Amino acid sequence: MTDNGIYIPEAKVYIDPWKPVERCVITHGHSDHARFGSKSYLCHHFTKPILKYRLAPDINCESVEYGEKVMINGVQFSLHPAAHIPGSAQIRIEKNGQVLVVSGDYKTENDGLSGKFELVKCHTFISESTFGLPIFKWKPQTEIFDEINSWWKNNISQNKTSVLIGYALGKAQRILKNVDKNIGRIFLHGAVYNINEALRAAGLPLDHFDLVTPEIPNSAYKNALIVAPSSALGTPWMNKFSPYSVGYCSGWMQVRGNKRREAIDRGFVMSDHADWEQLNEVISGTGAESVFITHGYTATFVKWLREKGIDAHELETYFTGETTNADADLIAEQ
Ligand SMILES: [Zn+2]
Ligand SMILES: [Zn+2]
Repeated sequence: MTDNGIYIPEAKVYIDPWKPVERCVITHGHSDHARFGSKSYLCHHFTKPILKYRLAPDINCESVEYGEKVMINGVQFSLHPAAHIPGSAQIRIEKNGQVLVVSGDYKTENDGLSGKFELVKCHTFISESTFGLPIFKWKPQTEIFDEINSWWKNNISQNKTSVLIGYALGKAQRILKNVDKNIGRIFLHGAVYNINEALRAAGLPLDHFDLVTPEIPNSAYKNALIVAPSSALGTPWMNKFSPYSVGYCSGWMQVRGNKRREAIDRGFVMSDHADWEQLNEVISGTGAESVFITHGYTATFVKWLREKGIDAHELETYFTGETTNADADLIAEQ
């Protein structure tokens, strides 16, 4: 661990560095993991277009498939499915028979787009713990989409447009893949549209949906579902959908209720992270002798693991202590 993030000295490689470095491996495209300015990036094929779109089109970026082995200065690296968002990867690092796995963000439910989580055996495991409290327990995805579909239909019966808020990378594509497209038309906010098209171009099996544009008459949005990021909330961009109902998809909806923000009519507890049970299952499943915890409720979670007899430690992250409740769903949910 250094000021720049997780560092593998034998390979001279950083994982998800916070500051510009020579060489890094990136777990996934969320902004708390993928930052601008490094000289060379290595990531999964689906993360590459995201980095080029979000960081700069001309970054030096090499991409690989899951399971492909890459030697860097005598150290073996490979990426394994983390099932967090499309392209998200756990990083497996092996040298002299010792295996370290850096989880990045992960969940174990296959959402139909993120792929199946792979449990990777290792000696040392660095795990996230964004939702590392027993109160966090997710419903199966099918139940959540039943709720979303009913909400959309109910809005139609009240002549309201449905505006569904979710993070533009990951959550939005998960919604688009799983929502019932027979209910009505779907339109996208620009931030969602651009990421969608970048992922589609890289081969992600996702349908095309139309962008909300000034040329489209407001009447077209009647009965439709609009998928947008939280930055759209409360902006004049929303006026054209009036009257509308706002739904919000986030793991945080479990603790903050539906009305955390005045502008939200309905909260859906949907997270792209592991819940309490999943975190515990994965950590013991890896067989790791040492576990390091980053992101979220690290102190409480480490204490719990130690009580279970696991050699656990906290790993400080750049965002620790800086994440306030107000921006928690913008950063911690990524
Ligand atoms: Zn994260
Ligand atoms: Zn993330």
